[in-house]
Amino acid sequence: MAGVVIVGAGHGGSQCAASLRDAGFQDAVTLVDVEGVTPYHKPPLSKAYLKDADANPQLLRADTFYTDHDIEVRHNTTVSAIDRDGKSVVFADGTSLPYDYLVLATGATPRMPDLDGINLSGVFALRTLDDAQRLRSASAEAENVVVIGGGFIGMEAACTFAGQEKNVTVVEMAPRILGRAVAPAISEHVHNRCQDMGIRIITSMAPEAIEGDGSVSGVRLANGEVIASDLVVVGIGVVPETALADAAGLACDNGVSVDGRMQTSDPSIFAIGDCCNYHHWQADRNVRLESVQNATDQARHVAKAITGDGGEYREVPWFWSDQGDMKLQMVGLSFEPDRFLVSGNPDENAFAVYHFKDGNLIAIDTINRPADHMLGRKFIEAGFTPSDDDILEGPAKLKQLFRNLRQA
Ligand code: FAD
Repeated sequence: MAGVVIVGAGHGGSQCAASLRDAGFQDAVTLVDVEGVTPYHKPPLSKAYLKDADANPQLLRADTFYTDHDIEVRHNTTVSAIDRDGKSVVFADGTSLPYDYLVLATGATPRMPDLDGINLSGVFALRTLDDAQRLRSASAEAENVVVIGGGFIGMEAACTFAGQEKNVTVVEMAPRILGRAVAPAISEHVHNRCQDMGIRIITSMAPEAIEGDGSVSGVRLANGEVIASDLVVVGIGVVPETALADAAGLACDNGVSVDGRMQTSDPSIFAIGDCCNYHHWQADRNVRLESVQNATDQARHVAKAITGDGGEYREVPWFWSDQGDMKLQMVGLSFEPDRFLVSGNPDENAFAVYHFKDGNLIAIDTINRPADHMLGRKFIEAGFTPSDDDILEGPAKLKQLFRNLRQA
């Protein structure tokens, strides 16, 4: 048997290889990645790793794990094509490797704005360990940092650099930071707190060009202001890595389209993580999610599907972000919420925002309120909506409700 070939050894791909072995899969498992390093955690790249010049990458699993579990890891190896008829992948050097099942875990690539000066030295995107290493060493000498994009990665980088006493400006095109992902009350709180840390945040404003001669010297905004800068971090989102799937004729629509088993339009090929697009039961629409939880849970699901034990994927999405003294945790999917309820006290930097639609709890955003987050996962999973009074009474009451729910 040819076994399973997994393209991409990030969070999803590595988990899939491990879960296949956990499930007792006996045939070959080959993990292929362009990068030349043992698979590592990405979240610290904009947090602890960026902050500390001596920090090492955090490995997902020890080096020895892969050999101990008979998982072949091919580093520095690009899959350049899928031969669906021959059921093999073709590498950049022209050689090929057959598969019984192929798992695409190719992740995503930072979106870069079409701006004059985008290729100047001192302009960085942040996705890989290599990006983080280069950004960290360039930041050692930098004094003025402009972050283009007030999403999670942009705000995390901004907080990191502000903590190093650099002058930091965030330029966000939308009317509020984190606007795609959290409730307005959370955006406002993070905005104010980051400003208190000394970060200048400019919303509803587009950058027009990056200025400099060889290396960056400033960012020119649409209103003509030029913000002096010796380092620019671009964090305006990512594009799913679908080139292989597209070229192989697999259905793609903002990601590789998969069904509830994470199977693509070819039954021998699965796709997981940032690169895939699937129908979410709770939101009742197609989504493409970018989180460690999404990639790893889908990886576990595919391992079950391949070993004959897979149903529909039904995990509740969750995500976290660390910004200054704020631990943000988000659970659920908030599409068209019609009501929000705030529990806790924003002035104490610890509160939760519950999102409702048609009377149902659909998502919760929390800042420094882990209990609401953990219990919220269970409530959303069970389709249970606590009353406003119970929510406002706080975690002790919610824990009691959860116990009742478990016993029911
Ligand atoms: P990836 O982990 O990106 O892995 C994809 C791999 O595929 C890459 O290694 C790539 O080299 C490889 N590849 C692509 N094409 C090919 C090819 N043709 N041949 C061979 N190899 C290929 N998520 C959270 O939940 N919380 C956080 O706090 C958080 N912080 C983050 C901070 C940063 C700086 C970044 C970049 C991401 C963060 N994320 C966070 C998001 C999270 O890391 C991603 O959602 C997750 O990595 C997705 O896993 P994946 O396996 O789909 O893709």
